Amino acid sequence: MNIDTGRLKNSVTEFSYYLKQEECSRLDPLIRFGSEGLFCKGELLCKGKDVTVEGTYEVTCSTPCDRCSEEVLRVLSGDVKIRLQPLEEKNALKGDLELNVNDIDTEFYTNNKINLDLIFEDQFLLDYPLVNVCKKDCKGLCPQCGVNLNHSSCKCLLSDKDNPFAILKKLQL
Ligand SMILES: [Zn+2]
Ligand SMILES: [Zn+2]
Repeated sequence: MNIDTGRLKNSVTEFSYYLKQEECSRLDPLIRFGSEGLFCKGELLCKGKDVTVEGTYEVTCSTPCDRCSEEVLRVLSGDVKIRLQPLEEKNALKGDLELNVNDIDTEFYTNNKINLDLIFEDQFLLDYPLVNVCKKDCKGLCPQCGVNLNHSSCKCLLSDKDNPFAILKKLQL
């Protein structure tokens, strides 16, 4: 969703919409949004040319578990809060900016356009967990035969433990 800042005029504008998977170009292809997409909602607060976006997002998405590769379905949500100023005034505002840098992230927009999609996509990517497991104690796949150890067991690792010669095998390595 593109916002024309020229039309905001010192007001509060509410928005809510769905951001589709295809519209998020930087998303890891392993992450699959539910059919509706990422639900974005919030407000644009406009003071002169200074615009603050405050909102939240929620999305149902599925990703393969890092350990066992089974699809994990979950609901992720987060907050967005960002201040935007016209790039054209970046230098003029420099002194003022430094004072404000600590309270809230500040970015710049050009040509009176604010792309909300990019803001929400950025926040989602930032919030997205680095570790994706189906459950805390996921046992993963057997490195030797590839069986999913959450559902079944195999003899690969067991036989090593029980085999008195296993230690010799290690020594030879
Ligand atoms: Zn797993
Ligand atoms: Zn195995």
